[in-house]
Amino acid sequence: MDLTKTLKKIDLHAHSHLPGGPERVRGGTWPTPEIVRAVYDKLNIEYGLLMSCGAPEHMHDPITSRDAEAISKAYPETFPYWFCYLDPRMAYNNVNKVPDYSYYIDFFRERGARGAGEIQANMMIDDPRLIGLFSHCAKKNFPVTLHFGQLGIRWGVVDDLGLVRLEKILAEFPTLTVLAHAASFWSEISADVTEETRHQNNKGKIVREGRIAALMRKYPNLICDISAASGFNALSRDLEYTYEFFDEFYPQIVFATDISSPAYDFTASNLSNLLDDGYKSGNISSVAYRAIVRENALRILSQ
Ligand SMILES: [Zn+2]
Repeated sequence: MDLTKTLKKIDLHAHSHLPGGPERVRGGTWPTPEIVRAVYDKLNIEYGLLMSCGAPEHMHDPITSRDAEAISKAYPETFPYWFCYLDPRMAYNNVNKVPDYSYYIDFFRERGARGAGEIQANMMIDDPRLIGLFSHCAKKNFPVTLHFGQLGIRWGVVDDLGLVRLEKILAEFPTLTVLAHAASFWSEISADVTEETRHQNNKGKIVREGRIAALMRKYPNLICDISAASGFNALSRDLEYTYEFFDEFYPQIVFATDISSPAYDFTASNLSNLLDDGYKSGNISSVAYRAIVRENALRILSQ
């Protein structure tokens, strides 16, 4: 049986917006549900988890929780699941006063939200405002998707070299499912990453082992979201390592696309092909393939 044909993938990191909003200054904007659907049909993807996105650091045309809910309701075959948007600055933006995130989690979960994200606030990942948010998500068993960035330079939560602050979060909140992605996260797949290279898509053979492997081995609540150019870069730079990485950590790796513009659908194809080719060549086991492209997503969505 060829699983690449019989097993439909799930995209655990989708963006989409209804038409009519502004393009980015540099051009392009969020893909419509119809555009995402066409990519899904081409790549044998059954459906996606639709992200909300409210951080002004990145969003020229925010996708609110209620936008995501409305798109999910209007396109249930493409986006049956969605994440709401929780921001570490909401309500008070006060390091000494944590909003009652549980109230908002209950509100949006009641309406169908399965987690929070994509969180792109540009602050240290252990800032008290984020710790407050994480503590409520952990208490409520509400997964979070985090984009890792660079302070004052690029959107996303910020860590030090070695993801040492992420480790504190994973240790403090073992019930918090953390879905992590972006170049500032994936650069840590290799041990030779430096302060100078840690925010870019690095090339070349992996120097073993990076901090990602160490963290995944120790913290089952860390999930690698392989979406976008950053995920594809990290997994295609050294296929020999990638296959070993999949073999050991497949329960904590999820297929995802992060198509941010109609012009970026090639990244989704690249990621899908990397998994399909690995499976067909016998380098990815059927157990690992099933988990990464579908079963882990179902587990996370049913939390
Ligand atoms: Zn992102």
